[in-house]
Amino acid sequence: AKGAETREFSAEVGRLLDLVVHSLYSEREIFLRELVANAADATDRRRFEALTDGARALPEDAKIRIDPEKDARLLTISDDGSGMTRDELVANLGTIARSGTRAFGKQLQDAKPEDRPNLIGQFGVGFYAAFMVADKVDVISRRAGADEAWRWTSDGKGSYTLEPATREKAGTDIILHIKEDADEFLDSWRLQAIIRKWSDHIAWPVTILRDGNEEAANEGTALWRKAKGDVTEEQLNEFYRHLTHNFDTPWDTLHWRAEGMMEFSALLFVPGSRPFEYAEQTRESRIRLHVRRMFITDEADILPPWLRFVQGVVDTEDLPLNVSREMLQATPVLARIRKAVTSKVMGELKTRAKDAESYTTFWENFGPIFKEGMWDDAAHRTEVAGLSRFRSTAVEGLTSFDDYISRMKPEQDAIYYLTGDNAETLASSPQIEGFKARGIEVLLLSDPVDSFWPDRLSSFEGKTLRNVAQGQTDLEKFGAPAETDAEKADMDTLLPALKTALGEAVSDVKATDRLVSSAMVLTAPEGGPDLQLQKLMQRSGQ
Ligand code: ADP
Ligand code: MG
Repeated sequence: AKGAETREFSAEVGRLLDLVVHSLYSEREIFLRELVANAADATDRRRFEALTDGARALPEDAKIRIDPEKDARLLTISDDGSGMTRDELVANLGTIARSGTRAFGKQLQDAKPEDRPNLIGQFGVGFYAAFMVADKVDVISRRAGADEAWRWTSDGKGSYTLEPATREKAGTDIILHIKEDADEFLDSWRLQAIIRKWSDHIAWPVTILRDGNEEAANEGTALWRKAKGDVTEEQLNEFYRHLTHNFDTPWDTLHWRAEGMMEFSALLFVPGSRPFEYAEQTRESRIRLHVRRMFITDEADILPPWLRFVQGVVDTEDLPLNVSREMLQATPVLARIRKAVTSKVMGELKTRAKDAESYTTFWENFGPIFKEGMWDDAAHRTEVAGLSRFRSTAVEGLTSFDDYISRMKPEQDAIYYLTGDNAETLASSPQIEGFKARGIEVLLLSDPVDSFWPDRLSSFEGKTLRNVAQGQTDLEKFGAPAETDAEKADMDTLLPALKTALGEAVSDVKATDRLVSSAMVLTAPEGGPDLQLQKLMQRSGQ
């Protein structure tokens, strides 16, 4: 056709498509979840853009339409959303821009089959799931506010074609040419069941064309606005899966309504498993902010960064529907909501911490993120410390500061800790021999963030935090093993000799009581960066 142009996919997309199509075979019904989610995102986007550009106004009856055509073997998903320009079609569907393609391919291969569908949503490759059920996909799109439309076509094998097209209104049609073995996805009842399972809570109406009638396919109820008693656990779990792209059940669900000073409903989840590393790239909380059910933004930083693993929705009456980004930044309403939501989550963690076994599950998943709060949040530092857990020389499993303090020796006034790359190496480190021999407990801190927060926290319940690898150990207080005169004399000749031999490589050589069976140990000077931090700095080239 005139103006048609064929382009190759960016080099790695081709190979990736193959992986997506073949690795995800068993769960292929999720292609519909992904396409409907994209349609809903695009409709949200247009509604938001329309706030500042009237030409993009959303039609009153905006919806997402699913139209199966059995005879033609076509399945079309249409929306009234933002649409895409020609350039956007190329950028969004011809490359995988948002994430490392290679990293994705590797994770996909390494992941357990049941975890693979998670990866689709997390890596932003949802659109490509269409090729699990279609041997050809047409995308016809017209950008809101533009006159021209474009058709993007591909068999998902290596190239795609772009050509001018016509579309009466702004929005997007995704037309799937259904594969021979995928008949089930032309059956309107089957499609309905998939929508119910995966997309029931999409806030826009989703309809399925059945015998010429558009029939409502989703309930679209904002689950979080319902009274607690009217929502089943299964509904909550489904919503959780939809929101997080996880396939497990949440470790914790918080569903409440604030009334009085401020009015909002909230439905938050602490996931039951840790997301793949990719999801860790951002430090911002992604809690979704709604105003009277309408999605506004997930960039309102409703929770602090160290609680960013919590996911969910906050829906308020106290903001206008046409709230802008600028206004969001300035409004005291949001500050109040942040405070209330944060303290609710902390209160809940306090309660859940009483069950040590279940809290350990939470801690293994999110402790390393949570601990950032001791570093970068002065207002919550002590509270975060109280809810933190650590490995230690004295107990199997995890301990808290409170428990550590309850085990302290009468003459002990500091909390001792050691940082390093992993807990096992730390447990056998020469640095702590002297402590172990005297029955003094040392916390073993092996997460990267552990090099940072102890200095900021500096003490807990009046007990100073002391790095055993830094400066003097105060071990003499606890009764140093008696030294013979011969040993003392040996030291007097050994130390100067060692100092000469090591020269510039060290700043000093001293006798220490921190060792029992090892001969020597490297320590950091008091007040300087600790050894683990020095290693991190070296690694990052500082
Ligand atoms: P993600 O949704 O995670 O960004 P996808 O592979 O699902 O990744 O989609 C890629 C991009 O294509 C989207 O970010 C969006 O910009 C664009 N897109 C997909 N479907 C639509 C649609 N129906 N309307 C407008 N844009 C869309
Ligand atoms: Mg998507």
